[in-house]
Amino acid sequence: MNDIVIIGGGVVGSAIAYHLGAAGVGARVSVIERDPSYEFASTPRSAGGVRQQFSLPENIRMSQYGLAVYRDFETLMAVDGEPAAPVEFRQGGYLFLASAAGRAALEANHRVQRALGAPVELLDPAAIRARFPSIVTEGVVAGSLGAKDGWIDPHAALQGFRRKARDLGVSYRADAVVGIEHAQDRIEALRLASGERLAAGAFVNAAGAWAGEVAAMAGMALPVEPVRRMVFYFETRETLEPLPLVIDPTGTYFRPEGRGYICGRSNPDEPAGVNFEVDYDWFETAIWPVLAARVPAFEAIRMQQAWAGLYAVNRLDANAIIGPWTGGRENFYVACGFSGHGLQQAPAVGRALAELLLDGRFVTLDLARLGYRRVLDAAPLPEAGIV
Ligand SMILES: Cc1cc2nc3c(=O)[nH]c(=O)nc-3n(C[C@H](O)[C@H](O)[C@H](O)COP(=O)(O)OP(=O)(O)OC[C@H]3O[C@@H](n4cnc5c(N)ncnc54)[C@H](O)[C@@H]3O)c2cc1C
Repeated sequence: MNDIVIIGGGVVGSAIAYHLGAAGVGARVSVIERDPSYEFASTPRSAGGVRQQFSLPENIRMSQYGLAVYRDFETLMAVDGEPAAPVEFRQGGYLFLASAAGRAALEANHRVQRALGAPVELLDPAAIRARFPSIVTEGVVAGSLGAKDGWIDPHAALQGFRRKARDLGVSYRADAVVGIEHAQDRIEALRLASGERLAAGAFVNAAGAWAGEVAAMAGMALPVEPVRRMVFYFETRETLEPLPLVIDPTGTYFRPEGRGYICGRSNPDEPAGVNFEVDYDWFETAIWPVLAARVPAFEAIRMQQAWAGLYAVNRLDANAIIGPWTGGRENFYVACGFSGHGLQQAPAVGRALAELLLDGRFVTLDLARLGYRRVLDAAPLPEAGIV
């Protein structure tokens, strides 16, 4: 019998596996991942952003740990002295732009971030233009620049954690969880598509956008749903100064990528469901006009590539749900509902779950407020910095 079985081997499941392995119990851990190519997993389809600019202290602290891990990732994940494939962490910065309506929130977030030691700077429109001459500041009253924020290659992060976890003794099995057997007060075993029954002492639901589906197999209600998000890649004729990841007051974001830029925006009207089709009209009608107004050099662009991936949206408050199934079958843990910031939180969540599973409590960072209790109490803990 395994001690711990993790359902889902994306960046979150693999970061948990790594931290358990690093704590010396890798041989007692299995990860069940139905698709080792990760074709539809959220991780490789992510925009790769890592930033300290959130409103909740827990989210800021999780990203600070994520930042430290990703900065030294190749060395930390080395196997037999051989570094992991580069995550290419580019600390190009994150610049949030606020309209008059968003100013108070930007300033309030800034105070929380500074109190936690995040290197963030408030800029007025003239200072924004002086740093980034390509950006037009019409309708903008302030900006918040996190110069140490940046982005990574998310697929390399996933593969680095996975390779290191395996080296530390964790086994990965290519199989799908199709059923969960339980007694009154605990989960006993998983039923796998291969026909196998897998018993264990503890189970972790790290199934990303499918976490709600997996929880339902255990009899647990999770307010987590898959929601499509699209990313578009374009190139410009002109070469611009190095730009950070910019978030316009409309929520539209863009950042450098290779020879061009990627961009996107969360559509608040997007229905829940598994959908990987790209809606090119959305780029033409909703994204491109904002890009062209904010950076005139983006008026004459060629959109060359696009993809869709799934956010695992927590409908309660757009924040992760981390910890045991409080009030239910308490050997079933969840690490899901990241609502678009799971890549940067994965290292901290991996560490937190390893602590919960091995020590029975959070040791380095108290994430109790992100537990399932708030779902039971219908008491949202909202994050103001969702992109
Ligand atoms: C377009 C887009 C942009 C994003 N940008 C950012 C960003 O800039 N920064 C950031 O931090 N985050 C970002 N995210 C979010 C981030 O990608 C996710 O939060 C993160 O990848 C979640 O990792 P995960 O391991 O939980 O999920 P996944 O990577 O989806 O892994 C879950 C795994 O579970 C497996 N699974 C599911 N059900 C079963 C089952 N029944 N049996 C076995 N296996 C199963 C799946 O095959 C999958 O591989 C973005 C996401 C998208 C879609």
